[in-house]
Amino acid sequence: MLEHIKKSDPEIHDALTRELGRQRDGLELIASENFVSRAVMETAGTVPTNKYAEGYPGRRYYGGCEYVDVMENLARDRAKELFGAKYVNVQPHSGSGANMAVYFSVLDPGDTLLGMDLSHGGHLTHGSPVNFSGSLYKVEGYQVDRETETLNYDAILEQARELRPKMLVTGASAYSRIIDFSRLREIADEVGAYLLADIAHIAGMVAVGLHPTSIPYAHFTTTTTHKTLRGPRGGMIMTQDKDLAKGIDKAIFPGIQGGPLMHIIAAKAVCFGEALGEDFRLYQENVLANAKALAAGLTDRGLRLVSGGTDNHLMLVDLNSVGVTGKEAEERLDRVQITVNKNTIPFETRSPFVTSGIRIGTPALTSRGMGTGEMEEVADLIYRTVTADEDDTSTLDEVRRRVSALCGAFPLYPDME
Ligand code: PLP
Repeated sequence: MLEHIKKSDPEIHDALTRELGRQRDGLELIASENFVSRAVMETAGTVPTNKYAEGYPGRRYYGGCEYVDVMENLARDRAKELFGAKYVNVQPHSGSGANMAVYFSVLDPGDTLLGMDLSHGGHLTHGSPVNFSGSLYKVEGYQVDRETETLNYDAILEQARELRPKMLVTGASAYSRIIDFSRLREIADEVGAYLLADIAHIAGMVAVGLHPTSIPYAHFTTTTTHKTLRGPRGGMIMTQDKDLAKGIDKAIFPGIQGGPLMHIIAAKAVCFGEALGEDFRLYQENVLANAKALAAGLTDRGLRLVSGGTDNHLMLVDLNSVGVTGKEAEERLDRVQITVNKNTIPFETRSPFVTSGIRIGTPALTSRGMGTGEMEEVADLIYRTVTADEDDTSTLDEVRRRVSALCGAFPLYPDME
C-alpha cells in the first residue's frame, strides 16, 4: 500500500511502517482512540486532498466543486439521520475547532462561560486557562461531587445562578457516567445561558441510543468524529435552530477556517454510512460490555475506579490505591506495549505531568474484535504491570508475552503492508 512513499521518502516510510507495527503489536487502551475501517482509511487518502472548496455545497468560492459537493451533502445528510439533527456542519478540522466556532458564533470576548473543570474530566476547550477558551472568556469551572465523584446538578444550578454564564458547557474527556442533558438544559434556561453539549467521547453511543442524546436539549452539540464514532480525525457541529446554524456556518468559514478538508469530509461520510448500519449498534454494545468487564476485572483485583465504575466506554483508575503515580503506570505499561494515558483524578493532589490516575477505554480493542473474556485477561495484565516492582523483569516479560499472544489472536489490518 505504501509503495510510492517507500520510493520517494524512505524515512517517513520507515516511521509509518513502525507505527503500523506498534498499533498491531500493542493493546491500545487510550479512551479517545480507535481503529477506522479500511474504507474510512482509504477515503482519507484520496484525490479531494487536492481540492479547494471554500464555502458550502452549492455556494462555493471555487469552480470544479460538483463532486466534493456530493461528498459534503452525503456527510451532512447521513449525520442528520444518524443523530436526528436538523442542521449539521461537517467542516471543523477538529473537536477544538468545533467548540471554538460555537463560542465565536454567540459569545463576545469577556463573556462568561461555565464548563467542567479540566481536572474533573472536562476538556481544555471548556475554559482551561491554558486554552483560548480560558483566556478569551471569563470562566468558572464546575466540579464533580466529592462523595460520589459524579455530577451534582443541584450544585451546578447553584453555581450557574451565581455566575449567570452566557454559555454552559457539558461533555467531558474523562467522565465515566451518564450525563443528564435534559437537566442541564433546565439549568441553562433558568439562568439564560446557551447549552453546549460536547459529546466527542460518547458520540458513538449517542448515535445508537446507548447514551441519552443531547440533540433536542442542547442549543449546540459538538463532537469529534474519530473516537467512539470510528471515523477520520475531525469535528462536527449540530443544532436544531436555523439561526444558530447560520451563525455556526459563518463562524467556521470564513470565521476560523479556510478551505475544508474534503478528503476527510468524504471519509466522515463513509464513517456515518457505517454508523447507520446494523453492525455499529452491536459494536457500541460490545464497547460498553467490554468496559463493564474491564472495570469489574480491575476492581476485583483491588484497583479503585473513580465513581466506582463506568456507564460508558471509559474508566479512571485511582492509583493511590496501589501507591504508584499515573506517570509511573503509563511508563511501565508502555514497556509491555499496553498504551494508556496518565490522567488527573478529581481533587487531584499531583501535577498534570505526574497525576494519580490513568484513563482507560475499550473502543479500540473492541474494534479489533476482543470481547469480555479478553477484558478479564487485559485487567490482569494491567494489574500485574502497575503493581510489579520496577526491576521485576520476569513479571514484565511474562506480561509482554501475553500481550503479544492476545494481539496475535486479534490481528489488526491483517492484509495491510
Ligand atoms: N472535546 C472533548 C470532550 C475531547 O475529549 C476532545 C479531545 O480529546 C476534544 C473536544 C478536542 O478534539 P480535538 O483533539 O480533535 O481538537
